Amino acid sequence: RAKETGKSRCVTYSARQSGPPEHDISLEAAMFNAVREGEFQLYFQPIVDARSRQIQGFETLMRWKHPTLGMVPPARFIPIAETNGLINLLGAWALKAACVQLPQFEEAAGRELYISVNISPRQFRNDKFLDVLDDALNFSGLPGNKLVLEITEGTLMIDPAHAEAILAKMTERRARIAIDDFGTGYSSLAYLKRFPISVLKVDRAFIKDLPDSAKDAAIVNAVLDLAKHLDLSVVAEGVETELQLDYLEQRGCQYIQGYLTGKPMPAHVAVAALKEDLYAQVMPVERRAGII
Ligand code: C2E
Ligand code: MG
Ligand code: MG
Ligand code: MG
Repeated sequence: RAKETGKSRCVTYSARQSGPPEHDISLEAAMFNAVREGEFQLYFQPIVDARSRQIQGFETLMRWKHPTLGMVPPARFIPIAETNGLINLLGAWALKAACVQLPQFEEAAGRELYISVNISPRQFRNDKFLDVLDDALNFSGLPGNKLVLEITEGTLMIDPAHAEAILAKMTERRARIAIDDFGTGYSSLAYLKRFPISVLKVDRAFIKDLPDSAKDAAIVNAVLDLAKHLDLSVVAEGVETELQLDYLEQRGCQYIQGYLTGKPMPAHVAVAALKEDLYAQVMPVERRAGII
């Protein structure tokens, strides 16, 4: 494919750009090109049991490797994709690819795992969303209960009646719902009663200053208490230190996700980590070290 052709097509796309003026038009143009060139990839970050540190599942995180710009962070390209609608295409691809990926992880681990996928507000509100979900589950053959869909408080609150109907359909497929960045959006606790939620993902903002910050400690403890009484699972996001892990584990937080227990990684690296984990379980330490 000629470079010139790619460039002129970019010009065509940037002319159609309709997002807010602060959007980087050239980045947006590059995104359309990136879709054609296959520059988007999925990374996977382990979600682990706080006590055993055993991997329970993975969160799927999109990556864009631009040939000259390098890694473009999701914080830059997701908002653009959300504005121009490209998130529907990218999100459908991520959901399907994640469902296809999970069995390979399970095989490497020798046990059942789950896969978590972020669903943006625009994706969630798209007419075709349930078709996209069904297509991902049918194509992959993945049982719905191995899929966790992460949505934010904001997504639920745009149109609660619509959200309620979609969530009911999602749970009909046995997919579980996680509230992502919990505590940073609308904090109307009423929605915890109204909607069929299974998981609260406590935002890194409340984790990063643990255990020193008394306020964050109070918030995290209150969330853990609430979750316990509502029978919800809690995942602490952005755990980077042993002190944070110890604190969370002692307070009964069951799951953690963060750089301490694994950064987002390509699928083949995750497979290698899972095989190592399996090996560690079945082989005594001496054997692993080559002593016997
Ligand atoms: P998120 O869903 O809350 O994902 C967690 C983010 O925290 C990820 O950032 C992850 O790399 C980062 N993280 C995990 N552990 C640590 C830690 O210990 N320390 C720090 N500092 N950060 C940590 P990432 O991959 O840059 O993604 C940012 C956001 O972009 C995500 O936040 C999510 O809202 C969005 N996003 C990423 N992939 C997708 C996708 O496929 N679809 C949609 N709709 N949104 C996505
Ligand atoms: Mg997430
Ligand atoms: Mg999150
Ligand atoms: Mg977050």
